[in-house]
Amino acid sequence: MRITVVEGDITEQDVSAIVNAANSSLMGGGGVDGAIHRAAGPGLLEHCRALRATRWPEGLPPGRAASTPGARLPADWVIHTVGPNRHADETDPSVLVSCFRESLLEAVRLGADSVAFPAIGAGVYGWAADDVARAARRALTEEPTHWAGLVEVRFVLFSAPVAAAFREHLSDLCA
Ligand code: ADP
Repeated sequence: MRITVVEGDITEQDVSAIVNAANSSLMGGGGVDGAIHRAAGPGLLEHCRALRATRWPEGLPPGRAASTPGARLPADWVIHTVGPNRHADETDPSVLVSCFRESLLEAVRLGADSVAFPAIGAGVYGWAADDVARAARRALTEEPTHWAGLVEVRFVLFSAPVAAAFREHLSDLCA
């Protein structure tokens, strides 16, 4: 499995699945969530409503992941996960690790061969980029045998400082 770190826009990635840093409602929001819904078109919201109507009537809890088709995105799938919100006193980094782990497991379950991640939690939920990069690293290295079907895990960071933090913490894992 190849691990890569790039600076860019996750909505433009030509991968099997992209991960969305969603909120529990799954009804869209700001930041990367808003960008993904804008790029995917209204079909994505319909898929999210279906998740709420079936598997997650109360919303998706922090640390969990659920997938929908990608609607108009280049990616086939969107894996929605909810980061812990530091501003709501959700300060346990293991929940952040769980976001990465559960999303990777969902990608494997979908049969995705490539998956792109944003810096989950590093925006309005208030986590430092270093903490997010460390969480990603922990998820990737804890149970590496689980990711057997994945050919590429790509971290797509929206700014140079966040990309630098990911490079620092993941460079020895990168191809
Ligand atoms: P959270 O609520 O989990 O903190 P945000 O969407 O506010 O999520 O921010 C998560 C990260 O996603 C931030 O580093 C933000 O700069 C980044 N981001 C915003 N738009 C995009 C995009 N189009 N592609 C990749 N990353 C993005």
